Amino acid sequence: MHLNLNDKVVIVTGGAAGIGRATAERFVAEGARVVVWDVGSEPRVDVTSQDSVEKAVEAVIAEHGRIDVLVNNAGVQHVAPVESFPPEKWDQIIAIDLSSAFHAMRAVVPGMKHRKWGRIISTASTHSLVASPFKSAYVAAKHGIAGLTKAVALELATNRITVNCVSPGYVWTPLVEKQIPETMEARHLTREEVIEDVLLEAQPTKRFVTVDQVAALTLYLCSDAAESITGADIPIDGGWTAH
Ligand code: NAD
Repeated sequence: MHLNLNDKVVIVTGGAAGIGRATAERFVAEGARVVVWDVGSEPRVDVTSQDSVEKAVEAVIAEHGRIDVLVNNAGVQHVAPVESFPPEKWDQIIAIDLSSAFHAMRAVVPGMKHRKWGRIISTASTHSLVASPFKSAYVAAKHGIAGLTKAVALELATNRITVNCVSPGYVWTPLVEKQIPETMEARHLTREEVIEDVLLEAQPTKRFVTVDQVAALTLYLCSDAAESITGADIPIDGGWTAH
């Protein structure tokens, strides 16, 4: 299938690691001009800050003239029972995993509307569709991004701008590795038990999703073939949400 991404200007938030990095690399391989917004790369862009996002949009427009594709991918996780969930972690997760997408959409939509073409894809999660215990903030943020996606998709439906989520199950990235010790503590389990009985237990394939598989789905949503897919939340979860 021809993706038709040559010279498209693409923003990938959280593109310095994991799924975002793989996605940025796939876009580059298809000839797109990719700009990564990440707190871990230069120039540092903190997507929780409206000011930082707006300045970053101005910088991309100054250099490339437009933004065609926005991939809202930055995200963090924290695992703890609700009664001991640190309020500052709640605020941080809502800011990074949800409000960041609002700031970025708000800033890029006027240009997309003007040119009557755009693609907005957010890396949500299986946790945008179902919950797991001890992940209250993440589940709330990811359900929120699914709702935000639907609302904005409806607003932009006649502008040839599609807005969708991709929702991976467990993907082996630094985000997943980091939550293993927290889950060991919250559930009183060993590392192997967390991997087999908590993470892969939910995934009928018993295999981690790969970063390249998620990237391929995001790229497909940018193709002409996907122009009728909007407002969707597409699972890529080894059958998890079929339970
Ligand atoms: P990761 O930790 O490997 O990468 C996340 C990136 O986001 C990092 O480079 C980090 O520096 C960046 N980031 C964090 N805060 C930021 C901020 N304020 N501004 C800009 N960048 C920031 O994580 P990942 O596993 O690749 O996850 C990417 C996305 O996929 C997240 O939204 C995550 O919730 C989602 N997701 C991951 C999995 C999984 O199993 N790994 C499953 C479902 C959904």
